[in-house]
Amino acid sequence: MSDSLFASYLVQAAGALITATIFGGFYRAYRKGFLREWALSWAALCVTMAGAAAGVPLSRVLPLDSPIRLGASAITGASGYMQVVWLLFGSSELVGRRPYNVRERRFLLGLAAAVGAGIAAIHATDPAGESIRFVFRAGLRGVIVGFAFFVAASHLWLAPGVRALGRRMVVGAFVLFGISQFQLLALNMLTNPAAPHTTYNILVGFCEFVLIFVMGLGVVIWLLEEQQAEATATAAQVEQLALHDPLTGLPNRKLFLDHLNIAIPGARRAKHKLAVLFVDLDRFKLVNDSLGHAVGDRLLQVVAARLRGVLRETDTVARMGGDEFTVLAPVVNTVEDAIAVARKIRESVKEVIAIEGRELFVTASIGIGIFPDDGTDALTLLKNADAAMYRAKTQGADLFQLYTAEMNSHAIEQLALESALRRGVEHLEFSIHYQPIVRTTDGVVCTMEAMLRWKHPVLGLVRPEQFIRLAESTGMIVPIGDWALESACRQLAEWRADGYTDLHVAVNLSNRQLQQEGLVATVRAALERYALPASALELEIGETSASQSKAEAVQQLSELKAMGVAISIDDFGTGYSSLSSLRTFPVDALKIDTSFTRNLVRDANDTAIAVAVIALARSLGLRVIAEGVEHPTQLEFLNAQGCEYWQGYLCSAPMDAKEATLVLRRMRAAGGRILSPASLGALAPARPT
Ligand code: C2E
Ligand code: CA
Ligand code: CA
Repeated sequence: MSDSLFASYLVQAAGALITATIFGGFYRAYRKGFLREWALSWAALCVTMAGAAAGVPLSRVLPLDSPIRLGASAITGASGYMQVVWLLFGSSELVGRRPYNVRERRFLLGLAAAVGAGIAAIHATDPAGESIRFVFRAGLRGVIVGFAFFVAASHLWLAPGVRALGRRMVVGAFVLFGISQFQLLALNMLTNPAAPHTTYNILVGFCEFVLIFVMGLGVVIWLLEEQQAEATATAAQVEQLALHDPLTGLPNRKLFLDHLNIAIPGARRAKHKLAVLFVDLDRFKLVNDSLGHAVGDRLLQVVAARLRGVLRETDTVARMGGDEFTVLAPVVNTVEDAIAVARKIRESVKEVIAIEGRELFVTASIGIGIFPDDGTDALTLLKNADAAMYRAKTQGADLFQLYTAEMNSHAIEQLALESALRRGVEHLEFSIHYQPIVRTTDGVVCTMEAMLRWKHPVLGLVRPEQFIRLAESTGMIVPIGDWALESACRQLAEWRADGYTDLHVAVNLSNRQLQQEGLVATVRAALERYALPASALELEIGETSASQSKAEAVQQLSELKAMGVAISIDDFGTGYSSLSSLRTFPVDALKIDTSFTRNLVRDANDTAIAVAVIALARSLGLRVIAEGVEHPTQLEFLNAQGCEYWQGYLCSAPMDAKEATLVLRRMRAAGGRILSPASLGALAPARPT
């Protein structure tokens, strides 16, 4: 019987060793801490079982108190308890407990070893099998190991991750193994432990061997299942990333087009309409620039959530990028239905949005494209909804607009204009016209303002309002503006050489140029090239771009002013710049916009504004220039108010360099100034209509 017991122990030891090796191997591959703890636990079990096996032949040849037998049973006992500690280290790590530190580990393992070795030693010196103490000692380890496996089983069950076949196998094996430990205690209590071992014991040993093996196999399956699940999750995540916008979680352009491509045949078959809405937030860039990207991002998330909230489950809301969203309403019966959707979107966006304690008011411009009326394929519908949105925007914010075929012709026109302008930049199809700026008190022309003209090969001379916006939005204004500055400086140098030594030139500067770094160097180079003093040049900046200037732009202007270049604010009164901001802005002059001058004297309101601007400028020590003076009465009024300079058709419309030179010569012949309104008509070339 003891031979078969020996064999049973040995087989269990081998099983534990194999399992420990499997755990160790998988630990090296997966680097999961619990595998290392369990490899150690099963290695300890292997030592325990090997020790138990060794005890069988040793008991025949050596007395009980021989140091070899004592040592062997101490090692067996110690490893038996250490197995439990390692098992629990591993399972507690599985449920995400804080790992034990080195000192705690040493203490717990040391304690287990001491308890195990101590109990084995007492047992070895007192082999009185019948005594209740033996039952207690033999059973003690069984109870502890049994509990430890129950705890480990519950940890394992609660651990996050897949709960499929592999994990069920391990948990089941743990529970059965725990029960088998308890049955050892029961057996010891019921029968005579010292009696020869029965087949039952051997059978239990074999079952434990199988269980140990199932644990190893189960962990392997479990890890593979987990890896499989991870791979699936990663694939899903990759798909989510490829088809969704990470900021708002909404579908992206690609997924939107997919949905649209599926919805179109559906609508065709069921003979109903579908609507594509293009939603663009108004003035979002302003929020982003002034309040920062974090607030801008938050705003986009709020808007995304609101759109999602007001629309139907079956509608698709996507983010195209930036502040552009699109909506697909896959089933609409009439155009009115589509308009109702647009109205819902508009109202939901309009409600005040609170971010970081600020209240933001946002509006959206919406374009609507309808299948099949405005397009029968996804890209055309989207493009036409975009065109409609663009039209809504140009008509003022917070509007929606249905697509009309004529919009495409507008877009085509814009496109044609853009390529024509590009060609214009390449071939330098530009010229400068000059308009005199006159001193009110004595009628002397002090400055010539340079006005850009585009010599279109077919259209002829094109005025700035027709192309400046496009030039700004495409960035072409930068080379054009540089060219204008250069030409104006060259012309002024010619005039100065011709004897007009006190003449100045004023050049309009676009916002885009102002934001461009290197502006100071460009201006300095132009002045140096034509040997002009900085004081000969004035730069005009639109009021809106002045009030929106960033610190770097203001810095550039300060440097220019320090050089001696004069800075004037153009179109003053049309923007919303606070008067106080002017105090910190590097500025020398204000230009009252044509729209106020036009109604001077006639309109009390505009007159009041002009009067206030003049008073303000004087109080700030700034010069005032009135633009657009067409009537002698306006000039008289301005003179009475103390406005020092003026320009306008009353003197002359902008004229090309040759004409401007003629005007200067005539003026010199007339004593260096414009004498009377009567003489003005003679000076001025025909006004533009
Ligand atoms: P601005 O700087 O306010 O120029 C005044 C505009 O009013 C000019 O139009 C001028 O021809 C017009 N004007 C002059 N006197 C009168 C008048 O008595 N009555 C009326 N009704 N209008 C008058 P223009 O030349 O078409 O220029 C339009 C705008 O284009 C300019 O407004 C300026 O902002 C911009 N611009 C012109 N040249 C350049 C340039 O070289 N660069 C940049 N960035 N912008 C330019
Ligand atoms: Ca100007
Ligand atoms: Ca102006």
